[in-house]
Amino acid sequence: MLKIFCSPSRYVQGPEASRSLAQQMAHLGIAERPLVIVSDAVRKQLEPVLNESFAAASVGFDLIDFGGECSAAEIERCQRAAERNGAGSIVGAGGGKALDTARAVASALNLPVVCMPTIAASDAPCSALSVVYSPQGIFERCQFYKRNPDLVLVDTSVIARAPERYLVAGMGDALATWFEAETTQRACKPNQVGGADTRVAIAIARLCYDTLLADGAMALEAARQHVVTPALERIVEANVLLSGLGFESGGLAVAHAVHNGLTALPETHAFLHGEKVAFGTLVQLVLEGRDSQEINEVLGFCAAVGLPVTLAQLGLDHLSAERARIVAERSLVDGETSHNEPFALTTTAVMDALFAADAIGRAHQG
Ligand SMILES: [Zn+2]
Repeated sequence: MLKIFCSPSRYVQGPEASRSLAQQMAHLGIAERPLVIVSDAVRKQLEPVLNESFAAASVGFDLIDFGGECSAAEIERCQRAAERNGAGSIVGAGGGKALDTARAVASALNLPVVCMPTIAASDAPCSALSVVYSPQGIFERCQFYKRNPDLVLVDTSVIARAPERYLVAGMGDALATWFEAETTQRACKPNQVGGADTRVAIAIARLCYDTLLADGAMALEAARQHVVTPALERIVEANVLLSGLGFESGGLAVAHAVHNGLTALPETHAFLHGEKVAFGTLVQLVLEGRDSQEINEVLGFCAAVGLPVTLAQLGLDHLSAERARIVAERSLVDGETSHNEPFALTTTAVMDALFAADAIGRAHQG
């Protein structure tokens, strides 16, 4: 198996980074009549900044409001707008779904793409894939692209203004990165782009975990005050860049598969991706028979930043064995990343680990 490492062409992060969008795009030679797909929640905040940035660079651009769901219909609507306006590049500004739509439109038209996440709730912005849903919001498929984004631009002033729950969820997604990458490597399984792990991918995944432990609690305090601090900067980098590179070039394992299993139960739909991944990480550690020191470190981190460590915290109090079986079976379907574990998993083993992780989490809460 060949080693493969992938990443965006350029990553830019800092306070007021949005102001440099046109300049950064011009530097890469991709500031050609951009179509900006922008989320409702941030349009008011970003529009004046974008006007100023593109005017200063003498670049004309168009803005289209994101419809709220990354569906085939929404991708087509934005694609038609891009064609109509003669767009030379696509920019997605907003949450994960707006960015997923931007990547899909850019890929369909073979145009360069810029991702501007306005929350740091997951590690998707740097990746070369989109999750496509039905217009009603039901998962349909993952769509993979030839290339990662040309530019990922993260304005930490904008991230700091968002509700802190998003930053915490991003830490939950980032928490899994080291454990899943390490497991994938140990099992000699392929990463998310079908290659063997590089040393750099593993080092990045480890740095991601170390950054969470060192800065997570302090970054949360900054996010609560809506201020930008060095700790917040480091956590945004961990959530978006380190976790993004770490999961794609390092690999995923049972933590994300448990997340996918949990989504089969409607009670968990009110919870964010990263919140479910955090509990999935705990399940992975139990399944792998990790020692109590390692598990306690993860539990301590989750408690410090407020990530769920029990089923009740995910809306699943009094989960029956029957419904736990649904989660376990879903986490083990063909093609799931649970098969990247170095040993064969059974439905019973995953069910047992779900209940054991929950009990350990409850005991830790005292
Ligand atoms: Zn994830």
